[in-house]
Amino acid sequence: MTETETQPLSARDIFTFDCSQDVPCFNACCRDLNQFLTPYDILRLKTGLAMTSGAFLAQYTQIHTGPETGLPVVVLKPDTGRNLQCPFVTTKGCRVYMDRPASCRTYPLMRAVSRSRETGALTEHFMLLKEPHCRGFETGTPRTPRQWMIDQGVDEYNRFNDMLLDIISLKNRRLPGPLDLKSARLFQLALYDLDAFRIHFFDKGAHRGLTADPATLAAARTTDTDLLVLALEWARRQLFGPDPT
Ligand code: SF4
Ligand code: SF4
Repeated sequence: MTETETQPLSARDIFTFDCSQDVPCFNACCRDLNQFLTPYDILRLKTGLAMTSGAFLAQYTQIHTGPETGLPVVVLKPDTGRNLQCPFVTTKGCRVYMDRPASCRTYPLMRAVSRSRETGALTEHFMLLKEPHCRGFETGTPRTPRQWMIDQGVDEYNRFNDMLLDIISLKNRRLPGPLDLKSARLFQLALYDLDAFRIHFFDKGAHRGLTADPATLAAARTTDTDLLVLALEWARRQLFGPDPT
């Protein structure tokens, strides 16, 4: 194979693939990096590295603005001296393996979702990406995309990633074109800089704009995942008003 091939798969189709330290291409996929990070990716990485979200963003990421949407986009800063490698790759593999981003877990699949207008239920769609440098297809275990997502622990990530997709879809419908600077900063604070958002929300009074029960607020004070759910809802209401559908 000399060119990248893609193949649509349903959640129950079978594909054969394995990746381990024994493959001849070990670590090849961690070079030439163009790695987007979702809010939950950042939550996991900064927690695993025992950093604040602000310190993590400053040291490991670059933040761009999507030219058509005006939305902030966070990418991992590649190591310029090492073939644009990921800053977390070592000769023994990924040093943040337990908290690696969703896209690293999902590879060699790509996942998209659609939501039913009638029931609100999500349907997953998959694409198998066969890149010439990736030798994991030569020997492997037959699995379905659904099984791969379970084995790689991606469902926990996609719980949050799908909430983010809902906000982006709402933004594209309700606020087409580039977002204004104030709204983009708000989006960045709430979704990507969670520790700064906690201070903004609780200590600077921003929580007054969101009606939440005391138990939810108490959980969000101490638990990042609860805070992220609240932050997504807060950002949604700040951008689209109290009844955003
Ligand atoms: S986070 Fe880990 S798996 Fe993902 S690109 Fe970096 S080193 Fe590779
Ligand atoms: S088999 Fe594919 S995913 Fe695994 S190390 Fe090689 S290039 Fe990366």
